[in-house]
Amino acid sequence: MRLLDPLPETEEPDAAIPGDTPLAEVEAAASGANRLTIRFGAFRDGRGFSLASILRERGYGGELIATGDLLPDQARHLKRSGFDAVRLNPGADPAEWRAMLAVIDTVYQPAADAAVPVWRRRAAVETLEQKAARLDAQYRDAEPEAILAAAHREFPGRIAQLSSFGAEAAVSLHLLAQTDPSTPVLFLDTGQHFLQTLSYRDQLADRLGLTNVKIVLPDAAERAGEDPKDNLWRTDPDACCDLRKVRPLGRAAAAYDALITGRKRYQAATRERLAVFEVLDGQVRVNPLANLDADEVEARFEAHDLPAHPLADQGYASIGCWPCTRAVRSGEDARAGRWSGTDKVECGIHMGARAA
Ligand code: SF4
Repeated sequence: MRLLDPLPETEEPDAAIPGDTPLAEVEAAASGANRLTIRFGAFRDGRGFSLASILRERGYGGELIATGDLLPDQARHLKRSGFDAVRLNPGADPAEWRAMLAVIDTVYQPAADAAVPVWRRRAAVETLEQKAARLDAQYRDAEPEAILAAAHREFPGRIAQLSSFGAEAAVSLHLLAQTDPSTPVLFLDTGQHFLQTLSYRDQLADRLGLTNVKIVLPDAAERAGEDPKDNLWRTDPDACCDLRKVRPLGRAAAAYDALITGRKRYQAATRERLAVFEVLDGQVRVNPLANLDADEVEARFEAHDLPAHPLADQGYASIGCWPCTRAVRSGEDARAGRWSGTDKVECGIHMGARAA
């Protein structure tokens, strides 16, 4: 569960539903909402816990935030009732809240959070494939915010985002920053990026407050042995992508159970059937933006005043390494400028070892 900083005194408090609101009104407010804040009038009043728990039981998949008169001792109960975050009050000590969240990590009864009771863990372990299929069925048509919140709930502390800091990356990174800006962001530095991409990466991370961008490099010995002149892309682009992207990502991603990507179904024919949750080589891939189309991506850029990649207004709709990327022409799909003139359509990081 995330701890949200107290709001500055000059800022209006969160629009919140009081904990004594009738259930029917709360359900009406939750219908179609991606985020709901419930205000606790007094720490002795447990009705906010009940509301959260019932909303989760009835399938509410958006983000739930608790605010108001709450004590650190109630942290785990908030989490178990289905809350994703709590807005701390001025003067509250985040360390006390964190300590209460960490004090016990074993649960004995099912509740509204994702924690699995001990008896169920022993009785049957859901496979990763089953888990991804369950989540995909639940969130296939959901909004990106709800998908990402679910991913963080299901894989707490074991999730990272993969980003090329390309033409549309700002949308998924903005979403991530709103959810948890300390989430690791893996950037595959192939050594062949446009200089504009590298400066955009730093500018965007700064602007969004991302605090954990990790630069993932090819192995130096492999690079010296397999591509000493940095021109493998001319003769064998599959081998080049394998050396500079696939293997480095495999090593870096081993630390996580789930990887978030910015892929969308509209981008290319090869992505038309993209799932929201899927399994690749024993790891879950989460695609919160899968449902967005080009207009919705553009609308998010405008709504959040996101900076564009410097090459975007020159017709670069999808941006990878400079030797393998060209601007697209009117009527072409967004990824037509990648490995143009060859049969290659994907670099391999989304295909898995079995397909490589
Ligand atoms: S996109 Fe091109 S330059 Fe970049 S790793 Fe793949 S083949 Fe090499």
